[in-house]
Amino acid sequence: MDTAAPQQPDVRGADERELTPEQRRIMWEGGTEPPFSGAYWDTHAPGMYRCASCGAEIFSSTAKFDSGTGWPSFTEPANRARVTLVSDAGHGMQRTEVRCAACGAHLGHVFDDGPEERGGKRYCINSTCLLHDRQPPAAGDDQDTAARAD
Ligand SMILES: [Zn+2]
Repeated sequence: MDTAAPQQPDVRGADERELTPEQRRIMWEGGTEPPFSGAYWDTHAPGMYRCASCGAEIFSSTAKFDSGTGWPSFTEPANRARVTLVSDAGHGMQRTEVRCAACGAHLGHVFDDGPEERGGKRYCINSTCLLHDRQPPAAGDDQDTAARAD
């Protein structure tokens, strides 16, 4: 019998969606994408940024700011419970790693040099680890459309 039929490699389970090799390297091996290379470092559209692995909503576009680093940067997560912060002494630096609290994927690092008026944090996140939900402007902003009740 021919047993050479390809079998799916054993991946990390149902949480791991269809990830590219680059996403696997960064999200599950703690890699970092080159600056100015990702999809979202210069994105200004409104919407949520989700974990690329499990889809959890991690950052809102309202927290995004231009850090000049070439990585998407946020002042805070959409909800503090969405991320896990882990002390990371690798690469000869003492840093704080940011992981998705839902699936454990590596997302990036958080630093203390963010905008002071917005809390002073800079969540420096790999574009590769995020999926951006582009949302249309919220309906209902136009008060005239809600005025007609009949
Ligand atoms: Zn996740």
